Amino acid sequence: MKYKMTRKQKKMLRRIIIAAILLVAFTVLKVIFKDIPWYVFLLLFLIPYLVIGYDVLRTAVINIFHGQLLDEKFLMTLASAGAFATGDFPEGVAVLLFFQVGELFESIAVGRTRKSVAALMDIRPDYANLIVTDDDGSEHEETVSPEEVAIGSVIVIKPGEKIPLDGIIIEGSTTVNTSALTGESLPQDMVPGDKVISGTLNLTGVCKVRTSGVFAESTVAKILELVENSSDNKAQAENFITRFAHWYTPVVVISALLLAVVPPLFLGITSGEVWSTWIGRALVFLVVSCPCALVVSVPLSFFSGIGGASREGILIKGANYLEAVSRADTVVFDKTGTLTKGAFAVDDIHPNEISSAELLDIAALAESYSSHPIAVSVIQAHHDHLDKSRVGDVKEIAGKGVRAVIDGDDYYVGNGSLMDEVGADWHECHLTGTIIHVARVMADRCEYLGHIIVNDEIKPESAKAIEELNKVGISNTVMLTGDKEDIAKSVAEKLKLSSYHAKLLPQDKVERLKDLMARGKKTIFVGDGINDAPVLATADVGIAMGAMGSDAAIESADIVLMDDNPVKIAKAVMISRKTMQIVKENIVFSLAVKVLILVLGAFGIANMWLAVFGDVGVLVLAILNSLRCFRISGK
Ligand code: ADP
Ligand code: MG
Repeated sequence: MKYKMTRKQKKMLRRIIIAAILLVAFTVLKVIFKDIPWYVFLLLFLIPYLVIGYDVLRTAVINIFHGQLLDEKFLMTLASAGAFATGDFPEGVAVLLFFQVGELFESIAVGRTRKSVAALMDIRPDYANLIVTDDDGSEHEETVSPEEVAIGSVIVIKPGEKIPLDGIIIEGSTTVNTSALTGESLPQDMVPGDKVISGTLNLTGVCKVRTSGVFAESTVAKILELVENSSDNKAQAENFITRFAHWYTPVVVISALLLAVVPPLFLGITSGEVWSTWIGRALVFLVVSCPCALVVSVPLSFFSGIGGASREGILIKGANYLEAVSRADTVVFDKTGTLTKGAFAVDDIHPNEISSAELLDIAALAESYSSHPIAVSVIQAHHDHLDKSRVGDVKEIAGKGVRAVIDGDDYYVGNGSLMDEVGADWHECHLTGTIIHVARVMADRCEYLGHIIVNDEIKPESAKAIEELNKVGISNTVMLTGDKEDIAKSVAEKLKLSSYHAKLLPQDKVERLKDLMARGKKTIFVGDGINDAPVLATADVGIAMGAMGSDAAIESADIVLMDDNPVKIAKAVMISRKTMQIVKENIVFSLAVKVLILVLGAFGIANMWLAVFGDVGVLVLAILNSLRCFRISGK
């Protein structure tokens, strides 16, 4: 990946090179010509000192007036000025020179990471080609910003353009590349009637799309918001570093002060040479007093981890969730739409005293306002036109079914427990599958109208997803479902889940999850965002999958899998663990080197050069290590 330095960074690089050359030249001069008086060298070394440090000095002075004495720039100024005062001119220049090298490196690393996450997420559409109808009825195309397009407008999308808004293709066919959102590189064929998602790329054909929402509500706008706000949710490790930095600097600075004053007084010797020895050692402390390596590298690691994950189509809403995923030992799944496709095929219709067509008609009308996968499938099975005006009041009964007023009559459509509730004289079906019972409730009695048998399929990737989780050491996999016992059992056995619970209402799912958590399990709940928002919110980490186009999932989950592939869960676990490991490496390594230099410095073994090299070296290494988080492939 190429990175172009900004003008500011280039200018800093020039200053560093000039100062470094002058520093080397004058140091050589100083070694060769020992007779030249010290004040000449003072003046000479002041040149590179000012070249490299004028801005640091200026900020330091300004900060003094604002009472910010423990600011790193102030400390570096103090350390370098101290070195000049004790006659160590080259060291004085070196302190600021290497400080600036570190700052430059940091700014390049942060800039590069931000840029590459933005590039990965290069999904923000710049414009939309809106079809505008003129007064005389003719149409023309106008390029407008996506924010200006109203819901229900028709837009034209040409090959190579980003799809600016969510919508349905009404004319033309094409292939679409969703890799920026899902990490999936295989293009998808699209024909009229298919749904297109904003932020994906139109590859081959020209097509007309009727928009299904405004830009602010679009998938792309929601994802961008999510990625942009992810750095607000800090991990414990980040908060720890912030608190640590708060007391680390003052402690080291006070130690430096004591080191400069106490030993000489204690030893009772006050000759200039002794003073300058101890002041020199104290200056080493000042150089090491900046916790920059930690303060920069820890958030950078999380940021790159989140960036690397987004490249795989795994959107993580904050570093705290990344941390929580790395600790998880139990994954709890919803069944429908998560482990199974959620696309039910109608297998059979068993009516009771009415015709099959009538039963399907009533079921489809009752379900016509529901977005539940069962509802969607029933409506699809009903090929004729649905006259929605026949439907009056509709109520969704989560985990059970729906109640709807059709032609003035009261109908209940759902599972056995819903039938029990209304007192229908229902019976089980001998066929395997999810059974949708239909009953009409009248003032004096309840009429059972029959049932529809639908079947769902297990997703092809589900078995592998469980296998991969077992491989990364998560062996506790639980399925919670509102469906019947026999279906739950067969799915759980096929997928080799460690346990399952059937016939649960949404609130029962929350209870089951709380049980697990009360037993000390660190849980991930994976759902599809349809009536499982309460469980998503309860789990330590809520993962919603299949978020392309589903608002509910993007909003209620902590982590969003853009495609429907449950294998990504294990991938998310691996990325998070690796990121945490890198964070820990950085913390331990930076602290170890700092402590070592402090100890060696106190005993006069580490001189200023070692301190300066050590400090910047640690910063550079820690940053380089952080950037590895970006490249974790999860494989
Ligand atoms: P899951 O836990 O598998 O995701 P839900 O909690 O959404 O399932 O629903 C549980 C059960 O309630 C379903 O298996 C179905 O029998 C019934 N049900 C829920 N919603 C509907 C609906 N809209 N139409 C018919 N039946 C439904
Ligand atoms: Mg569900």
